[in-house]
Formats: sequence, structure tokens, C-alpha cells
Amino acid sequence: MQSEPASLPPDGIIPLSVPFIAGNEWAYVKNCLDTTWVSSLGIYVNRFERMVADIVGTKHGVAVVNGTAALQIALLLAGVEPDDEVVVSTLTFIAPVNAIRYVGAWPVLMDADPIYWQMDAAKTVDFLERGCSWRDGALRNRTSGRRVRAVLPVHVLGHPVDMDPITEAASRFGLSVIEDATESLGARYKERPVGQLGDAACLSFNGNKLFTTGGGGMIVTDHNDWATRAAYLTAQAKDDPVEYEHGEIGYNLRLTNVLAAIGCAQIEQSKEFLAAKRRIAQRYNEALSDIPGITPMAEAAWASSAWWMYTVLVDAVIYGSDSRSLLRQMSESGVQCRPLWQPMHRSKAHVGAQAYRIEIADQLHARALSLPCSVGLSEEDQGRVITLLREYAKAR
Ligand SMILES: *Cc1c(COP(=O)(O)O)cnc(C)c1O
Repeated sequence: MQSEPASLPPDGIIPLSVPFIAGNEWAYVKNCLDTTWVSSLGIYVNRFERMVADIVGTKHGVAVVNGTAALQIALLLAGVEPDDEVVVSTLTFIAPVNAIRYVGAWPVLMDADPIYWQMDAAKTVDFLERGCSWRDGALRNRTSGRRVRAVLPVHVLGHPVDMDPITEAASRFGLSVIEDATESLGARYKERPVGQLGDAACLSFNGNKLFTTGGGGMIVTDHNDWATRAAYLTAQAKDDPVEYEHGEIGYNLRLTNVLAAIGCAQIEQSKEFLAAKRRIAQRYNEALSDIPGITPMAEAAWASSAWWMYTVLVDAVIYGSDSRSLLRQMSESGVQCRPLWQPMHRSKAHVGAQAYRIEIADQLHARALSLPCSVGLSEEDQGRVITLLREYAKAR
């Protein structure tokens, strides 16, 4: 039972990124309704967990209500306690930094690298080696005196962080590594899938992500005890399902079978989705590389990007208008673009968080512009985006 591909929004607007619903989503959801298996147990939850864990190459997947919840629980699994610190990217969507605060810990904000825009591995290692010291059996931040417990690299926009130096330093200092892979499911780092590079990884299936369940998330891990504990904590920490005895204060964060059903249908198309993203990115890369002042998105030799959100840098002087003016011009022409997130060291939500040697993230924030890149973006619409970017360059 196939449904028609989702149609574009009205008035010929080219959206930034919209879901692609054209597989077995409807059939699987109907099956949930027909069988009344609509809640947080059911075959689709199990199948979805298995399918995603297989893509990532981990032993376990534990489905949860969203990516933010996955991050919160993963931090608890890592043993992060109130007043501990967690090293995290400053150039990211806010969720991972909020999750650190949910468990009572504090973020140490790390700069982005200038080429791939990911958490800077060299600065991260530098912070652990020189910004911290080993005292009373723990790694302590020299500035705050607090215990550093984990590193939380965020693979932004579909491209991996350079993980090897980070995991090497983390293991040297006894820290857990939790990957925020919410934007990069399907990406590879040195041939290894993103999501299997640390102790656990967090995924999101929000509507704006490459694979969506409407809202959803997952923790993937190779640690048996972490997976068991994640399932336990996210289902109210129930020790006895008959007598309703609970071993501790748990959470109600499990994904429902209906949403997992959508997820199964999405993951069935993972090869096609990733191929579409790569095709769109390649065309942009070729078409935009000769526009003065536009820097296309890069892919490292050691990486295979999932190309989740295709983004360029706009040099205001050379291009002739800055990223925000270009955003407005594109919008007036019916093309939705978007800047990157306000860096976390600028966010009112995290005033006072330590920012470690941040030099690059603000420039990237000022210059970056994400372009329409839905899986279902037509060649014609992509051509329109490219033509407009050329015209506005000339129009200065
Ligand atoms: C989307 C996203 C999340 C959170 O996912 P939700 O499912 O929306 O809670 C976390 N981190 C990053 C970097 C994201 O882009």
C-alpha cells in the first residue's frame, strides 16, 4: 500500500527540508491501529531498534520519545552527576547542552574547526591535557575545579567530528564519550558508521531529520549494561511488572509502536535517502564552487557525510551581500534558507558556561546559510536555488 510522495507546500515555495513519506509508513501505521498495538510495546519498536542498531553497527538500540531525551538518559548512563562537567560543541542545536543541565552538570563549550565546522578535536584534547589536571582520582577542570566526566561531540549537519583524537584522550583520562549523532545517522568516520565510535550515541527522528517518526529518538550502544539500564530508566524503572514496584525514580520516555512503525518504513529506504542527499550535495558543490564568495560544504577525506543539512559560507565582501541579506532575498523569491544556530557561548540559556578558546564558531555563525535539501527536492527546484544564488551575486 504505497502512498503518493508528499507534495510541496503551496505557492511554489521551496522548503528548507521536509520529510519524504512514500514507502510503507501508511501500511505499518494501519497495522498498529488494526491490531491495537499502539503503545510503547510492539513489533515495530523492536524492529526499529534492530534496524537502526544495524545501520550504526551497535549491539543495542533503545528507542525513546526524542533525541533530547536520548541525550539526557545517555548522560545518566555515563555516570554524569550533578556538578560534573561535560565537554560539548558550542556550534550546535541547543539540545545536547540543555541535556547536560537536565542532569545537573555543566557544559564546557568547545570551538568548531574552520574547515568542517565540527567540534575542534585538537582544542578538545588541549583542554583535557592542559585545561585540566588529575586530582583525587579524577580529571578536574583547572578553572572551575569541577570533575570532568564525559565528552559529547556533536556531528553537525551530517558530517562527522574527527573522533580518533577525542576518543584516545577520553580513554586516557577515563571519560565516557557520548556521540550526538542526531544530525548524522548514515555518516561514516574512517569507514566506521557514526554512532559506534563512543560509549553510546544519541539519534533523533524529529520531523526535520533525515529519517523521521514525527518525533522520536534512540540510544545506541555496545555496552550490554547501558542498554539494559536505558530500557529500565525510560520505562519508569519498574522492577516488578505485576506488583508495580519501582527500584528508583525512572522516566516515561519510551517511543510508541505507531511512531516506530513510521521509523521502520523510513529506515527501509535509508540507502535511497542517503543517495538522494549525496546527489543534491554534489550538484550544489559543483554549481556553487565558482561563485565568488560562496564556500560550499566540505567533506573530509576521512569522512563520508550524510549531508543532512546542506550549508554554505557567504563572504559578505566578495559575494556582495551577507548571509542574512541573502536569506531575506531568497525568502522573497520563495526559497527557504536558514542560518546556523546561535553558538551556545552566546546563548542566554547558558550564560556563564565556560567557553574554551573559541575563535571560529562566531565567524561560521555569521556566514553560514543552509539551503533547501529535502530528500524529495526536484532537479528543477534545485536549479532555481542555484540560479538565484548566481543572480544575487551579480546584483551587487
Ligand atoms: C535535533 C537535534 C537534537 C534533538 O533531537 P529532538 O529529537 O528534536 O529532541 C539534539 N541534538 C542535535 C544536534 C539536533 O540537531
